[in-house]
Parts: sequence; structure tokens; C-alpha cells
Amino acid sequence: MSLREQLCEYGRRAVELGLVIGTSGNLSVRQGELVAVTPSGVALDRLTPEMCPIVDVAGHLVEGELQPSSETPMHLTVYETTDAQAIVHTHSVFGTVVATTMTELPPVHYNALLLGGTVKVAAYATYGTPELAANVRAAMEGKRAALMANHGGVTIGATMEEAFEATRLLEWLCEVYVRGLSVGKPTVLTDEQLNAVVERALNPPTFPRRL
Ligand SMILES: [Zn+2]
Repeated sequence: MSLREQLCEYGRRAVELGLVIGTSGNLSVRQGELVAVTPSGVALDRLTPEMCPIVDVAGHLVEGELQPSSETPMHLTVYETTDAQAIVHTHSVFGTVVATTMTELPPVHYNALLLGGTVKVAAYATYGTPELAANVRAAMEGKRAALMANHGGVTIGATMEEAFEATRLLEWLCEVYVRGLSVGKPTVLTDEQLNAVVERALNPPTFPRRL
């Protein structure tokens, strides 16, 4: 699948799964010095490959008639400072709830380790600004995900599929935490418990074949 086709495919999935509504949310995928990004003002389930602009990592428009997403500066900053090859940004409900009420998402489930443990909420700044990009960069350091105060979430991956699955996981973790808060006080996993999970993952159980 070409970079632009990936944006169409995962844009459709994001709408189908209710992760974005209307023209909110944006995706990008990188190959070398070029980044294909979703255009500004088009719903993610209405994209065609030729609608998706291609920019270089310095932010110059290389191909396409439509303007790149207003959040492109944030995407480019994240590419500059991480090993990301794909980025997904949505205004998903539970992610946005956490981003409007908390300063971080604590690890209440061990799958949070897949995103780097605690997910930080980047300080608020107007959408599309270099200031927001800098805040996201800081919150993303050493992580695969960040939340953006009063805005939404952003995840990275080595592929579009990985970045997209990270967004689904981030939303699931936020939902578990928010729903947990309505029932009681969610228990946060300790560093020791999280280290034990990493240890376990590195040393999976073996099952000798029955003779
Ligand atoms: Zn946004």
C-alpha cells in the first residue's frame, strides 16, 4: 500500500471505530525525507490518495492540491525528535476526557507499558502552533503516546498500523481509567510491578512438547 493509500485506509478505520468525527483528527506516514499527511478540512473517511498532500520533513509542500492538516507542524516536530515512521492524532472521547481533567494517565493496566508507562498530558496551546508542537514533543519524550490538554491524543509507531493500534490502546486505557474512577479509586501499578511485567515479557514461559 502506498503512503497515501495507508492514510485513506486508516482514516476510514478511525471514523468507523468512532475515534474521530467530522474533519477532526489527522494522520501521517513517513518515508525517508517525505511525509504523506491528511489534508485540512476533509473528513478522514472521505479521503482519496490524490487528496493527501506530501510534504518534506522541513515542511515544504512537495505534491498535492489541498493544504496539509493544520497539525502538520506537530507531526514534523515529532518526526524530528523520535524514531516515529507514522503518527495518529485524534480527538477520541476518553482520551479527550483525560486530557481535559488530568495532567497524566497513570498506568493502571500493564498494557500501558506498550506506550511507555504513564502517558503525559502536554500543556495546552492553540492547535497548529509551534508552541503546541513543542509541548507535545516534551510530553512524548521516551514514550509512544501523549495527550494534549483540552484537545486529544497523539501516538507514534514504526508503521501506520502500529501508530493506529497505539491510538486504540491509548483510548482503551483512558476509558478503563475514567470508568474506574466512576466506580472507585483505580489502583496504579507500582514501578516494581511494572518492572516485573517487563521481566516476564522477556522470559516467557516455555511449554515442552509432550513425547
Ligand atoms: Zn486536533
